[in-house]
Amino acid sequence: MRKKMVIGNWKMNGTVSTNSRLLQDIKDDPAVSASQIEVAVCVPFLHVPKTRAILDGSALRWGVQDVSAYREGAFTGEISADMAAEFGVLYALVGHSERRTYHGEALKTVGEKALRTIEAGIVPVVCVGETLREREDGAARETVETQLMAVLDSLTVQQAACIVVAYEPVWAIGTGRSAGASQAQEMHAFIRETLSKQATDLANTPILYGGSVKPATASELFAQADIDGALIGAAALDASQFLDIIRSAAFQALS
Ligand code: PEP
Repeated sequence: MRKKMVIGNWKMNGTVSTNSRLLQDIKDDPAVSASQIEVAVCVPFLHVPKTRAILDGSALRWGVQDVSAYREGAFTGEISADMAAEFGVLYALVGHSERRTYHGEALKTVGEKALRTIEAGIVPVVCVGETLREREDGAARETVETQLMAVLDSLTVQQAACIVVAYEPVWAIGTGRSAGASQAQEMHAFIRETLSKQATDLANTPILYGGSVKPATASELFAQADIDGALIGAAALDASQFLDIIRSAAFQALS
């Protein structure tokens, strides 16, 4: 049985003081330290040192929301995966749809970011997902496969065995409109099939669902065979909602 995983994506929200309070409210909850689940929060870069100081020694892990596609050098404003690793960062989102859309991240760049992340000893959470237009045009699978293959083509099988995939339909992110559990399961099964075709070692890759997950929708999603957890945006900014989602994952992992 694969472990369930819940990862919060705080995006560009909060202050050092509000985010510190949020961490304090989450980190010692028994659900967070349940052995059958893994919980992490991907925080703004500037909040990483404070996050580390608060979470050191707790079961709650921390991550970042992006890394540079380059190792080092004249890339003004960029932060490398190696720099993040120095601060105990365990996860990095790569290819989030907001980065693909607002920062023009190309398929190849996302593959390079995944590679830099793995080289630094950080787990890349590779975000893939179709737009509403692509879904309506019947191109959802093709889009997701293309995004996934761009990453797999940048990695050896051994490296690819380290990734986490997050299926995040763009039309469900921050819209309050979540994919239905069976609709999400269908895409997750397709992602697992695509990974397995590359190498049997990839069959157990954790595949998370992301897109307007709330406490009310979490348990049905987590009950699906190929949904190994969730990437949570808005609900991760509210300790009680985030903890309810974590409890759903822990409950599902036990049943
Ligand atoms: C996200 O941005 O990764 C996300 C899942 O956001 P939300 O839960 O707010 O839709």
